[in-house]
Amino acid sequence: MSIFAKATDIFLDILFPPICLNCKKILKDDEKQNKICSECLSSIIIYSSFFCPKCKSRIPGVEKLCHKNVKFLLAPVSNYESGPIKNIVKFLKYNKWKGLLNVMTPFIENYLNLLKYDFQNFVVVPIPLHKDRERERGFNQSKLIAEIFSKKTGAIINADVIKRVKATKTQADLKDPKERQENVKDCFEIKDLETIKNKNVVLVDDVFTTGSTIGEAATLLKKHGAKKIIAFVFAKA
Ligand SMILES: [Zn+2]
Ligand SMILES: [Zn+2]
Repeated sequence: MSIFAKATDIFLDILFPPICLNCKKILKDDEKQNKICSECLSSIIIYSSFFCPKCKSRIPGVEKLCHKNVKFLLAPVSNYESGPIKNIVKFLKYNKWKGLLNVMTPFIENYLNLLKYDFQNFVVVPIPLHKDRERERGFNQSKLIAEIFSKKTGAIINADVIKRVKATKTQADLKDPKERQENVKDCFEIKDLETIKNKNVVLVDDVFTTGSTIGEAATLLKKHGAKKIIAFVFAKA
């Protein structure tokens, strides 16, 4: 960094001190690179199990399902309401700051350590964005999370399995579960049949709320011969 750039940085820090993206407290020097304070980070609760996508209860073991007819199991790292999780998810998506992935990585890795599940023979499929939205945002957050997942588990990513063919409204803007389901109906298309036929698939998304989006993708994959499906998300609501 040049002396001028450094001086500008210091000057800006005095005028606009960097604050925690969650609690707005002024950050200490070693917290600045994450844009989030250590207290907020230490308040995050990490899960250690699978969950039922239907009633959202904890599943003690994959053989002990509460709802037997579910199309997939839910594997969430944390809860949307846990500490700063909601703001981390939003900041990544809307402030488009990819540095947060470094903050998310240890939480993802810890969850996978606690889950102790072998994902080796799974294909990792990030939930795609519509091409217009991905162009506007500059990245697909699900794909970036899928990359962290893949690196940790050794399961291979294939981002071309499904395509989003319908530009849907933002699910967060729709409160009614029926409306959400209607919004994502037929929004995906299978692009690569061979990759999923008789294969186990991990669908990756940032958030699981009512499950309409992942449910739509899982139904389509099942229809085309996918075996086991696990939905891996950073946060469940
Ligand atoms: Zn904070
Ligand atoms: Zn259940």
